[in-house]
Amino acid sequence: MPGPRPRPELHSIAAHAAGRSAGVPAEEFTHLLAANENPYDPLPGVLDAATAAARRLNRYPDIGCARLIAALAHTCDLPPTRFAAGAGSVGVIQSLIQAMAAPGDEVMHAWRSFEAYPVIAKAICGAMPVAVPLTDDGCHDLDAMAERVTARTRLIFLCTPNNPTGTAVGRDALAEFLARVPEDVLVVLDEAYAEFVSDKDAADGLTVCREHPNVAVVRTFSKAFGLAGLRIGFAVAPEAVAAALRTMAPYGVSRIGQEAAIASLAATDDVMKRVDLVVAERHRMEDALAARGFPVARSQANFLWLPLRERSAEFAGVCARAGIGVRVLAGDGVRVTVGARESNDHFLATAANFPLEPG
Ligand code: PMP
Repeated sequence: MPGPRPRPELHSIAAHAAGRSAGVPAEEFTHLLAANENPYDPLPGVLDAATAAARRLNRYPDIGCARLIAALAHTCDLPPTRFAAGAGSVGVIQSLIQAMAAPGDEVMHAWRSFEAYPVIAKAICGAMPVAVPLTDDGCHDLDAMAERVTARTRLIFLCTPNNPTGTAVGRDALAEFLARVPEDVLVVLDEAYAEFVSDKDAADGLTVCREHPNVAVVRTFSKAFGLAGLRIGFAVAPEAVAAALRTMAPYGVSRIGQEAAIASLAATDDVMKRVDLVVAERHRMEDALAARGFPVARSQANFLWLPLRERSAEFAGVCARAGIGVRVLAGDGVRVTVGARESNDHFLATAANFPLEPG
């Protein structure tokens, strides 16, 4: 007998969640280069703060993350009224779409880009995702995106650096784009990988959102700060939007998460030293792969994009047999996280044995 059934659209979320490393569970790999995680253990001060918070787990956390928001506001030199924190940046992205888009409204994003935008827009919010293809070199096609804006467009996501292609939106190009977007459309800069950007001409959301009243920035503690397991992200948004986000997800960040994030901000210098190591490894891997003839673009994030097209699954299979988990986007490419040096060496040695011409 058929029981209560969730909405059928929700199937696409299950498909997204199952998408890591061609369905092989992470535990089966010795080298985890599939999820753009930070390869380093938590910093000692962060672990101490988390452990201390664990002693008070019988108490609710701060309902609206006031101390974390105060620390973020101080770090970013923006008023606390512009901040909201949530369960990972994906939780913040979900709240943003729910806050802005009613069923039938349009949510624009580039493609390929972070899969969560269309999935959340459609399956959770009943909104209409509008996917605008990237340029051939994996960049946002901002001209094409500006042309696709309609009266129903409520949100535009720009993922910079873009997952999976690693390209960042330029400062000047973004300024021109924003001048063409109507004021009532919220442009969300998803800067999950912002700390890894080395291109001096890349746009910086924290600067842009001071000058443009319709820009929001989403950032995370999952990547550079290495707290993916704790689920903490935040938005810097126009005040009315930030206030809506804060009321929509009360108690959205755990007690341990809030304390670990505050301790991480206090340790930003140490965090950035680790970021520098990852960026140096990124350059080393790019050079080595390019020398082997791989089609590898210069990345601004903590991952590399190999557009291997129809050979993507084959390459991911070779990596899997060598104990390396990578992210395969079938028919399109393979995304490889820049990990610790040992994992990167093993990946490069494995890639060096992959015949680029089909044998
Ligand atoms: N945005 C982008 C571009 C991402 O790649 C990811 C994670 N892969 C997220 C947001 C979500 O990260 P989290 O929820 O861990 O903050």
